[in-house]
Amino acid sequence: MSSPIDLRSDTVTRPTAAMLTAMSAAEVGDDVLGEDPTVARLQSKAAAMFGMQAGIFCPSGTMTNQIAIRLHTRPGDEVICADLAHIYLYEGGGIAANSGASVRLLPGDRGRFTADAVRAAINKRNDSHLPWTRLVAIENTVNKGGGACWDLAELQRIRAVCDEQGLALHLDGARLFNALVAKGQDPKAFGQLFDTISICLSKGLGAPVGSLLLGSGEHIERAHRLRKLFGGGMRQAGYLAAAGLHALEHHVQRLAVDHQMAQAAAAHLAQQRWVAELLPVETNLVIFRLQPGMRAETVLAHFAAHGIKASTMGPDLVRFVFHLDVPADAVARIASALAVFES
Ligand SMILES: *Cc1c(COP(=O)(O)O)cnc(C)c1O
Repeated sequence: MSSPIDLRSDTVTRPTAAMLTAMSAAEVGDDVLGEDPTVARLQSKAAAMFGMQAGIFCPSGTMTNQIAIRLHTRPGDEVICADLAHIYLYEGGGIAANSGASVRLLPGDRGRFTADAVRAAINKRNDSHLPWTRLVAIENTVNKGGGACWDLAELQRIRAVCDEQGLALHLDGARLFNALVAKGQDPKAFGQLFDTISICLSKGLGAPVGSLLLGSGEHIERAHRLRKLFGGGMRQAGYLAAAGLHALEHHVQRLAVDHQMAQAAAAHLAQQRWVAELLPVETNLVIFRLQPGMRAETVLAHFAAHGIKASTMGPDLVRFVFHLDVPADAVARIASALAVFES
């Protein structure tokens, strides 16, 4: 029996032998006291990559996003984000619970909206009925948009609107490295545009734990207090930071392999008459909609019987995620499973 293929998420990866070696060799200290040299190295390396002043290592991307929202808002303020945004859909109502902020959802093209839409959604300051619009949050790549990548020019226009209206701009970059590799973009171009950026080390980069929030020295100093408040201060976290450093050094360029596999799998799916819609594949995510009457659970069960695990994004939506633990023969095995599927 060949090894199972787990396409449920890029969070299922396990540390490689080389990553484990780097972790066990880490020099550590108490990071809550600011004494862990490996955490400090990771934070400054990531900040430098993006041309930002500082960074803070946190247990999860949910925490880095939620700290950022709290940094930029006060209770009663409003956050503008896409209707597909992870911060809105998948963080447990944290915008309300952690920051007391309200949300203005923007429809868009697979989670991407325009600067004009942002401008139209900003509440008038001089009307005391309205919540104060304080923050715009972007997600790149868009998870629920099938890994869609933003156009840098539109982000520049959104930055200009934020500057003109005094709004902060946050980037949920859980899969930002996928976008950078797919589009050949420079991380510093993103560092210039955003007040804060959250990046995940535990998605396609393959670290077991960890995310970073990047921003100005002042924002990150305040973020230290918020991380403690949220229960995210970690002690000898250098063992985990070492995994993150290893990932940034060795697992970024190889994301292109995941993108190629996603394209190849999508080409097979496009030929199935029971696949009603396939979202354009730009990075490592493949999302497809089934023809009316078919259920995602049925398709999942068929793939599971062939040793392939996938996940659903709705009753008729299936998602495949490619990552560094997907074996080289995965696309061929997906094709074999498709060949014997009877809808
Ligand atoms: C995974 C993810 C996060 C953070 O998730 P954690 O599991 O909390 O690390 C944030 N945003 C997006 C778009 C994600 O896919």
